[in-house]
Amino acid sequence: MKSLKRVAVFCGSSLGTDEQFTTDAKKLGIEMAKRGIGLVYGGGNKGIMGILAHAVYDNGGEVIGVLPEAMNVPQVTDNSAHTELRIVKDMHERKNTMYSLSDGFIALPGGIGTIEEITEIYTWRQLGYHDKNIALLNSNGFWNSFIAQMDNCVDLGFLSPEARNILKSSNVVDEILDLLAMEPEELP
Ligand code: AMP
Repeated sequence: MKSLKRVAVFCGSSLGTDEQFTTDAKKLGIEMAKRGIGLVYGGGNKGIMGILAHAVYDNGGEVIGVLPEAMNVPQVTDNSAHTELRIVKDMHERKNTMYSLSDGFIALPGGIGTIEEITEIYTWRQLGYHDKNIALLNSNGFWNSFIAQMDNCVDLGFLSPEARNILKSSNVVDEILDLLAMEPEELP
């Protein structure tokens, strides 16, 4: 088992329409704080991001928000839920900072920002730039269509079965954190 000091969580800056999304975000935040796993996230106060950051912070956990200069405005930043807020130059520096601070990656339900972030970190894993685990918290089947598309890529010869297996998923918060703590699989 790997020890997880911090995990980056990508998630919606909106709440979504299903209460299960916010329920699971809260559960994840509480469980991270309980296990002593710090949160690295996009630094915003909106939507699922804000719910998650508060759940970790309010339960005594570490929260590091990473925001580009241009987004450091009161409408976005939530100073009540950070142990640390890092202001960086741009989106590229933000991603590098989030990725290097974290021992694993989780995506909760979200929109194109979330999908882009988790897909990029998955791509980097496939290319061998890192060997950190990646998991989708599949609240009420939110990620089913994404998972089906990855299976489609395998079936049609665009993704190796080994790279497909790197991407873990569960709708159970405890299981997600256990999956991230597993020894990473080797890719051929
Ligand atoms: P989306 O899923 O499109 O709502 O985008 C959410 C993801 O993009 C988060 O994981 C953040 O890293 C980033 N992001 C998008 N909007 C914001 C915002 N208002 N504040 C901070 N980060 C944001």
